[in-house]
Amino acid sequence: MLKGKTALVTGSTSGIGLGIAKVLARHGAKVVLNGFGDVDAARAEFRGFDAQIGYHPADMTRPEQIAEMMAYAEREVGAIDILVNNAGIQHVARVEDFPVEKWDAVLAINLSSAFHTARLALPGMRARNWGRILNIASAHGLVASAEKSAYVASKHGLVGFTKTLALETAATGITANAICPGWVLTPLVQKQVEARAAKDQTDLEEAKRRLLADKQPSMQFTTPEQLGELALFLCSAAADNIRGAAINVDGGWLAQ
Ligand code: NAD
Repeated sequence: MLKGKTALVTGSTSGIGLGIAKVLARHGAKVVLNGFGDVDAARAEFRGFDAQIGYHPADMTRPEQIAEMMAYAEREVGAIDILVNNAGIQHVARVEDFPVEKWDAVLAINLSSAFHTARLALPGMRARNWGRILNIASAHGLVASAEKSAYVASKHGLVGFTKTLALETAATGITANAICPGWVLTPLVQKQVEARAAKDQTDLEEAKRRLLADKQPSMQFTTPEQLGELALFLCSAAADNIRGAAINVDGGWLAQ
């Protein structure tokens, strides 16, 4: 279905980004990976797929490195047809204790990087009159939790940015949408599981159960593969007129 298309997935050396990249590659897209994790291990996940896989180590806090990554993609793999803004970090602290440099890093990686990739990808998408921009926001793009001020601000910002992108491209073959997962068991959440286990003096399984019980009525983690399948659907012709949506995949978190 995606033969001839090129996808860039930021922050795709682990977790949700890797899961989405794998589904897109399995359906024929060439993929540019990015992120700070184990690149060889990430690449190994694509063995057997008939798809070119590139990698660029751009730091999403650095606009000039993002520009280098976009140029690398176009030169070495293909012009970006599918842009998945997925790189993200979390920091948990009350506002009055929140380190200023952490606030700046969360906003830069989770929000500003999506502006930089989109502004650089859009001219080519417009020239070809086809494109997909998928912003990986969060349930925290739609509702808040205590002690996650920067994350909640960045993800609400990303949902708003998605709507503006959708309006500016509404009469074209380019669509922009946000995916809003609840809990997904990735390295980002594993840290929170460990923090919860330490705080409650319990084991990791019980800490996972308590995290889910707080927010996610299904008591199941969403998987990166499920989010990859949703991304694939949003790349299909059936989704040509889904524009500016924020789709929650959250086990009922937002239904409460
Ligand atoms: P993860 O930690 O497994 O993946 C994050 C990726 O971003 C990694 O590849 C990491 O190397 C990369 N990254 C971090 N800082 C970077 C930087 N400065 N430059 C480039 N890459 C950088 O976490 P994940 O859970 O897979 O998170 C992926 C996205 O999904 C994030 O935007 C996160 O906010 C969002 N999300 C996660 C959950 C969840 O429950 N895990 C829920 C909702 C939304």
